[in-house]
Amino acid sequence: MLINCGIIGTTVNKTTLYWLPLIGLLLLGGCAARPPAVDAGTVCVAKTFTVTDAFEGARRGRCAAIGAANVRIDIRAEDDWVTNDSPWFAFKLTPSQPGVATVTMRYYGAAHRYWPKTSNDGITWTRLAEDRVGVSRNGKRAKLSVPLGDQPVWVAAQELITTPIYDAWTRRAASDSNIDSFLLGHSRKGRPIAGLDSNAAARDVLLIVGRQHPPEVSGAVAFFPFAETLFADSELARQFRSRFRIIAVPILNPDGVIAGHWRHNLGETDLNRDWGPFAQPETQAMQTLLDDLDASGAKIRMFADFHSTKRNLLYTQSAEFPTDPPGFTPTWLSNTEKRLGNYSFTNEAAPVSDQANSKNYMFKRYGIPAVTFEVGDETDRAATRAAAVVFAEELMKLLLSQDY
Ligand SMILES: [Zn+2]
Repeated sequence: MLINCGIIGTTVNKTTLYWLPLIGLLLLGGCAARPPAVDAGTVCVAKTFTVTDAFEGARRGRCAAIGAANVRIDIRAEDDWVTNDSPWFAFKLTPSQPGVATVTMRYYGAAHRYWPKTSNDGITWTRLAEDRVGVSRNGKRAKLSVPLGDQPVWVAAQELITTPIYDAWTRRAASDSNIDSFLLGHSRKGRPIAGLDSNAAARDVLLIVGRQHPPEVSGAVAFFPFAETLFADSELARQFRSRFRIIAVPILNPDGVIAGHWRHNLGETDLNRDWGPFAQPETQAMQTLLDDLDASGAKIRMFADFHSTKRNLLYTQSAEFPTDPPGFTPTWLSNTEKRLGNYSFTNEAAPVSDQANSKNYMFKRYGIPAVTFEVGDETDRAATRAAAVVFAEELMKLLLSQDY
């Protein structure tokens, strides 16, 4: 029987171990030593591949090579204040020879949540096959078997939708649709936060926001087609834009996305608990936008904020907190549901609480329908995109039918 001593590529048999005390301190010291380990940001080298995390969205903690084709990686949140169970991971495996890389992830402060995805180009992603992922009973470990050819393979909790993709999308949306892009503000690290704004002369405003929470990629998968439908060259969208101003902020937490955070911005803050305090530059930028809109006489009529959770749902206000107009959201969701095929969702209508999230803040400040649009982590992406188009179309129709 072979026992792994925890030294790269080193195994000894039981007989050797039995005679260890006689063999001497060198081998004993080797077996007793902690395995070589490296911190995030440092290349981690096994015999057949290396692990790196020098790219946007990467997150990897200490990494130890524990065999020729076997590494163990610690997955930790960005700071000690993260309480949300969203253990994001993203790293790159570069093979020195073809084979299979075994990666054991140890989660600290959370349990396994995201099904691993792989990519050879960082753009097209595939879910790792069922038989290539083993999760421990308590969810604290996940063991991945990743096939390696001769090219690097990205491994991530979700597809990497990072700032270059947002930048390109915003530029294209602005040029295709003749819609203005604008600088909403800057992140804590000074990165620009962009928005799109159509028909600034209109009084009535639809405001949509995305990516306050870095790992919530499935929400982004919905945000893009939702916004594209609003900005489309369709008769409905043209009619809508002639009456309504649309302001879209696709990514409010670019620092967190770039750093591969589980939850926070670089100020150790959950931005979606900071609508009210507005203690962070990202949320302060939203506050300034709202103040400016109010000062200009604009009327925000509806607000949606895109997120991800374990299943498809929309958080809304319960009936004892009537919106203006009353019953708007249930009608919207009912009209949408009738047209959806393979996309189911629930409506979690709840009393308005003191939690300083965007939905509660927007309802309290304006009395408008305000929703948190949540897409399941592993919901089929094509179904998500198709559903987002229907949600957007039905929203436009219903807003157009209002007598504001
Ligand atoms: Zn969220």
